[in-house]
Amino acid sequence: MAAKTLACLLWALLFRACQTFGDDLAWDESGYVLYCPCMGRFGNQADHFLGSLAFAKMLNRTLAVPPWIVYRHHTPPYTNVHVPYSEFFQLEALSAYHRVVSLEAFMEHLASKHWPPGQRKAYCFETAAQRSVDKKSCPMKDGNPFGPFWENVGVEFDESVLFGGISFSTYHIPQWIKKFPPSEHPVLALPGAPAQFPVIEEHVSLQRYMVWSKNMVKEGEEKIASLLLRPYVGIHLRIGIDWQNACKMLESGEAGPHFMASPQCVGYNRQTALPLTMTMCLPDLAEIRRALKLWVKKTSARSVYIATDSESHSRDIEKLFKGKVKVVSLKPDSAQLDLYILGQANHFIGNCVSSFSAFVKRERDAHGRPSSFFGMDEPRRVNKREEL
Ligand code: GDP
Ligand code: MN
Repeated sequence: MAAKTLACLLWALLFRACQTFGDDLAWDESGYVLYCPCMGRFGNQADHFLGSLAFAKMLNRTLAVPPWIVYRHHTPPYTNVHVPYSEFFQLEALSAYHRVVSLEAFMEHLASKHWPPGQRKAYCFETAAQRSVDKKSCPMKDGNPFGPFWENVGVEFDESVLFGGISFSTYHIPQWIKKFPPSEHPVLALPGAPAQFPVIEEHVSLQRYMVWSKNMVKEGEEKIASLLLRPYVGIHLRIGIDWQNACKMLESGEAGPHFMASPQCVGYNRQTALPLTMTMCLPDLAEIRRALKLWVKKTSARSVYIATDSESHSRDIEKLFKGKVKVVSLKPDSAQLDLYILGQANHFIGNCVSSFSAFVKRERDAHGRPSSFFGMDEPRRVNKREEL
């Protein structure tokens, strides 16, 4: 009996794996959600991904997981690169939460039969369609990154379906289901993520389903073993020129405590949010030194890893510890390598406002690893609810 159960279980697991990843992809009658991660770089796309995953689950539709859009503004051929989800993370790990298929596999194995050219509808807000010439077409492929994204997957849209008065929040889910039953609307293809930025508090914990791919783990662990000495403190310096400009909005009072990824620091509730200071947005060298000194001492760190969008300040930091702490900054081509190494640090000091930092903070929270922020040594406790 037990053996039979086990065999069945194995079969079910295998079958499911085949269904999700193999050639015999079965069509999901409950429908699909497709979207372009068309806003921002990795951090923003990751926030949007978590919300979209939750949205697909709430609609009980399979999520077609899009590739990451990597912008190459400074390296030839200057066109966007579309990196499959599975290059950085395990697609299979998402299945513990909800049904997924990669957008690439959806196109290759399902689209020609079940979503053929000529029947590809785009879905968007009426307000978005207002911008089109006839005022009723979804701007699916207008401009960059929209055009290149759908070109890359080989999709032309034939028709637009407009909606209004609903949002992607839980509150409107019954309306979505009523408005777009899968029998009539099998594939909801959206111009952007069906999610908010930053990720809402309820969806922060979905981070745990984003599990690094084997290749990323291998590459990251090799770098850690060869370059760093444990314990090590990892820091994220988001201090480049675009960031300096963004943080000016704080000084001018244009931004309140909720500014980009800052809810992770000041709290998600606007009524009770703590103030967001300039130091939290753009730490100066004095703050970088102060925080590092504190955490290197507290953790007895033997090395420091610096991930940065511009300067690393590694000379200053070496001097700060009089050469007794090894200071490493890789400036890798792939931002994901920095994210991995920061995630594995014995302590992490991030930037409150950055969604790149937020990714690391969420991952560390999911694994019970400690983090702090520049300008905030004791971050607010995150909501510890296990399930949604
Ligand atoms: P945010 O703008 O900080 O909220 O995060 P995003 O990820 O949306 O955009 C910042 C982008 O700048 C990242 O995706 C990276 O491409 C780059 N970047 C910022 N900080 C770092 C860093 O420490 N290391 C590397 N490699 N890239 C970074
Ligand atoms: Mn950004």
